Amino acid sequence: MERSTSRGTPELAGSVQIRHVDAGSCNGCEVEIASVFGPVYDAERYGARLVASPRHADALLVTGPVTRNMEMALRRTYEAVPQPRRVIALGDCARDCGVFAGAYGVAGAVGDVVPVDVEVPGCPPPPEAIIEALRGMTGR
Ligand code: SF4
Repeated sequence: MERSTSRGTPELAGSVQIRHVDAGSCNGCEVEIASVFGPVYDAERYGARLVASPRHADALLVTGPVTRNMEMALRRTYEAVPQPRRVIALGDCARDCGVFAGAYGVAGAVGDVVPVDVEVPGCPPPPEAIIEALRGMTGR
């Protein structure tokens, strides 16, 4: 598993289409994702783009701990992404449940439900860290 990398993901290098899945986030991570794809950080210039359907995606960008209500949805969304597919666990909650660890509505971390390829630590991770992880995937 990688935290972030600058060598790219060979099968996906150049252009990576991303489906975001909020599996139970407090929305803090979403604010940073919005910033990353906004005019200041502009992740699209590095080849990363958000898409509306997992069937159009190369990778999932998952935030939050996985709540019981989202566990099956996350599994099914993962299965809907064509291969080769990648999963980014964004934020401490996605990595290890963070501040929600042990909460009654939490099924587990993202890695407990689907295979994780890249982790981005932080609560929330700063835009620079998210950009670094995305650039690691696109290789740009
Ligand atoms: S990592 Fe922090 S900002 Fe992100 S969903 Fe968890 S509590 Fe919210």
